[in-house]
Amino acid sequence: MTSDENTMTPPKFDLEKIKYATDATTFEKAVDLYESGKVTQFKEGIGAYAALVIGTKPYRVSIEARRYGYGYCECYLGKNDTLCKHLVALSLYAVKEGRPLSGEDKRQTVQVSFSGTLGTLKKTELSAIKKSISGAMRYIKSYEGPSRIWFSYQNSLSEGCNRLAKIISDLPVSEQTAGLLVDMLLRLDDRLCRGGVDDSDGTVGGFIGEVVVMLEEYAKMDQSCIKAFKKLCDRETCFGWEESLVRIVDEGLVEKY
Ligand SMILES: [Zn+2]
Repeated sequence: MTSDENTMTPPKFDLEKIKYATDATTFEKAVDLYESGKVTQFKEGIGAYAALVIGTKPYRVSIEARRYGYGYCECYLGKNDTLCKHLVALSLYAVKEGRPLSGEDKRQTVQVSFSGTLGTLKKTELSAIKKSISGAMRYIKSYEGPSRIWFSYQNSLSEGCNRLAKIISDLPVSEQTAGLLVDMLLRLDDRLCRGGVDDSDGTVGGFIGEVVVMLEEYAKMDQSCIKAFKKLCDRETCFGWEESLVRIVDEGLVEKY
């Protein structure tokens, strides 16, 4: 154990990981604990950190430095292998070393943002984005574990959607990027229908809905995007999310005659 904070070994995870892999409520509560100085007696051990986190009671908390979300807390949730606010507060401390959090640090943006600018991606940019989409898709995996890992499973789905949201936000609008988004939605749909993903709290479905709304904006801005929606016609999807886009295709055809 060392008490010299200047020589602290940083954890293998970073703030981005904490933000993506923690549900919003737990993250906010953890930020409150961290900012009000409730993480006390911080100590670095071998590959781990420990602290006394002052919640409704003082809780002894320890976390692994190697992987985010692995640790122990004396509170009720912690004892049930659930990622509790105390574990997250200590993780924030390990990453920030007690320094204040900026506004950006605390912003857990998951919403897809629309660029509103026309344009296409260069070949290299397009393939880089496709690669990062495939990387983020790995978090949206099938549920196989016992019920006690349910929460970490849910967090993995959120992390996948958060990562995807960041990748596809502010893309230039064109038939090319519309096609990229439609393909991504079909991959997600395939995971939901046939990939064993348990989306009972609607994380993935909600994300799909946000992307569909953005694609409607694409179509308003550039009619050629509608061509990319044709793939969705005569398709059975898991919950009918494609309907509004198919309607745009139908209306587009009607207008031509
Ligand atoms: Zn706890």
